[in-house]
Amino acid sequence: MPNTNRRRTKIIATLGPATESEEMLVKLITAGVDIVRLNMAHAKHDWTRMIIRRIRAASKVAGREVAIMMDIKGPEIRTGDLEIPIELKAGEIFDFTVKPGAERDHAEEVRSVDVNYRDLVNDIKVGDTVLVDSGLIRLEVLSKDQAHIRCRVLTPGSLTSRRHINLPGVHVNLPSFTQKDKGDTLVGIEEGIDFVALSFVREASDIEMLRYFLKENGSRARIVAKIEDQSAIDNLDDIIRATDALMVARGDLGIEVPLQELPVIQRRAVRTCLAIGRPVIIATHMLESMIGQPMPTRAEITDVANAVYEQADCVMLSGETTVGKYPLECVHVLDTIARRIEQEQAGDIPEPAVFTNERMKVFRSAVVLANQLPRCLILVFTRHGTNAAGIAAHRPPVAPILAVTDSLETMRHLRMVRSVEPFLLTPFGDPEATIVRATTSLLKLGRIQPGDKLIIVSDVQAHERRIDSIQLRNVEEPTA
Ligand code: PEP
Repeated sequence: MPNTNRRRTKIIATLGPATESEEMLVKLITAGVDIVRLNMAHAKHDWTRMIIRRIRAASKVAGREVAIMMDIKGPEIRTGDLEIPIELKAGEIFDFTVKPGAERDHAEEVRSVDVNYRDLVNDIKVGDTVLVDSGLIRLEVLSKDQAHIRCRVLTPGSLTSRRHINLPGVHVNLPSFTQKDKGDTLVGIEEGIDFVALSFVREASDIEMLRYFLKENGSRARIVAKIEDQSAIDNLDDIIRATDALMVARGDLGIEVPLQELPVIQRRAVRTCLAIGRPVIIATHMLESMIGQPMPTRAEITDVANAVYEQADCVMLSGETTVGKYPLECVHVLDTIARRIEQEQAGDIPEPAVFTNERMKVFRSAVVLANQLPRCLILVFTRHGTNAAGIAAHRPPVAPILAVTDSLETMRHLRMVRSVEPFLLTPFGDPEATIVRATTSLLKLGRIQPGDKLIIVSDVQAHERRIDSIQLRNVEEPTA
């Protein structure tokens, strides 16, 4: 049956040493990865250029064009390099040094590590908490001068090189779109990336800054706003309105906000995105235990299922596919859980989101019609992806959305949108001839069968004007 054999929820996999070979990329794409993510915290420019070209080549070999998301780091604070790890003990006094090489007033011998942000001393206060390495090490600020922040270790641990620092509740005055981000984004633009994910978005104007930069440099890449701290949550509605897509970046968010708030924020973020038709990604620790083991924990299975039940557009893998021992198995596990939960949801007709615009109401009627007919698929013709995404925003519970576009860029952008299966058909011509070419090609691909019903959302020519239309057609046996 055509309606149930395709996965609606999209899969994003982050690349790293475990997955960067062309052979592994082909396997990941064949296994169903929709978007490949490059984490620029760890990527050099030469590697970035090489890997983007390799992903494009692997897509050709696999016969499936995936999208590429460049994740830029934003205002991130990190510790410096260490020759050997420092074993921090509970109660130990420890310094963060913002001016490497500066004299220390303190007579006693205190161990220290450099930090890459000089003004940290101005942003932080005595009594604040410093969390290092995903919150594994916790310290309390005791005092500060212009060069050092003196802390007491509350939760001990082993400190290694270049660990990420989180400062819950502290407003960091670093720019949202840093010089490093600009350099990384320019490389991405030159290589034709499809999405830029901006880390630690704090307010809508952060997104506007990136949008201006992309436009100025001739890129149509879509923006993914990563919400990772309390400021983003305070400005969530504005951020969702300003961005093209949202990522619930639970790694940092789970450190920056009280842990019991995380599921509440995830649900609110997904609902707000669904209400205005923004794609939303659930990221981090989805299958964390599979970094070292071939099977997920029962809690992870339920977490993935929850994201699918919530109707998020994408689920994302990070460490599981960058350094994990079982990257392909992780994709398989996400794929299997998503398909099962989607089957379960097929009977649910969701409440329509309240879209006021006329075109969205037209799309809504296409979805309502598709819900009432067995063996029905929605076929939409879309140049910029807006029509396809508009239909997907109504979350049709059964009918898949086959989106035919004449733009490779749009085809890749649609990889992010739940339920949408994009197909490339160039060039678009007369509307009727284009419908015939598309259905012939979908029949050849086996994606539609004689006897299926198609709800076709497209333009029709009415004298000089093109008008939106919804048509119901039967798929006929192909003629010779
Ligand atoms: C996260 O914090 O969940 C996240 C996706 O960001 P990063 O992996 O860049 O820390």
